[in-house]
Amino acid sequence: MVRLKVRRQDGDRVWHETFDVKDTPEMSVLEALFYVQERLDGGLCFRYSCRGAVCGSCAMLINKVPRLACRTQVSSVKNEMNVDAVKWGALARPVVKVAKDEILIEPLPNFNVIRDLVVDMEHFYDLLDYIKPWISAGDEVPKGGNLMSPEVEQQIEVYTNCILCATCHGACPAAGRDEMYLGPAALAKAWRFYLDPREQEKDKHARLEAVDNQSGLWGCDVVFKCVAVCPKKVTPTQGILAQRRQIPKNRIKKVFKRGKNSED
Ligand code: SF4
Repeated sequence: MVRLKVRRQDGDRVWHETFDVKDTPEMSVLEALFYVQERLDGGLCFRYSCRGAVCGSCAMLINKVPRLACRTQVSSVKNEMNVDAVKWGALARPVVKVAKDEILIEPLPNFNVIRDLVVDMEHFYDLLDYIKPWISAGDEVPKGGNLMSPEVEQQIEVYTNCILCATCHGACPAAGRDEMYLGPAALAKAWRFYLDPREQEKDKHARLEAVDNQSGLWGCDVVFKCVAVCPKKVTPTQGILAQRRQIPKNRIKKVFKRGKNSED
């Protein structure tokens, strides 16, 4: 048996409830929640879809670490509850008394809770929209098509693996402080489109300028928590730092271009 301690919420009422689940060797935390919903409390709310770490719907805080419930095995988090408050900072609060053999399950931090473990994702998608996450390749397709070299494809691939689960956003201290901070997922995506050779130069620069501020690239604390929790091995912090480095390079290029034009 395994005991789940689940944070419940209904409007302003918040409480914790424990459930004893008959676990099996490869049971995931999501399956343990199904067990609760089907046999112990049909009212328990949580979000899920693919059950295979593809849709990103079941992101939640498991033993104070943001993770996907479908790819977290009960056996790997059983008896794990030793929250490192320094490492996880705000995520470790509020402190909940948990027995050593309990698994603590809470909704993803930095989001408003709709009910129990279901959080409101709308603001996260709005932040993503801000960076215009699409390619504007222009009307004219070059002869031979818009080809991408294997090197560039490799560089971009790490960012295209993002499934928008928001696990990184839940782990991000800057997102916890400032709700207008674009967050690791949106900023990683901004770099993905900057790298794409199909994107028109003017749109690349416009996007980079749009994130060159405190709610964007400069709001990041560079503590790599997003990288640590990402289930798809995306590296948002590296993308943010790469864009920070790109900004002065572009400014220098602009100055040289202006100088050259005035000579002509
Ligand atoms: Fe999820 Fe990783 Fe994408 Fe963040 S970067 S939304 S953690 S897949």
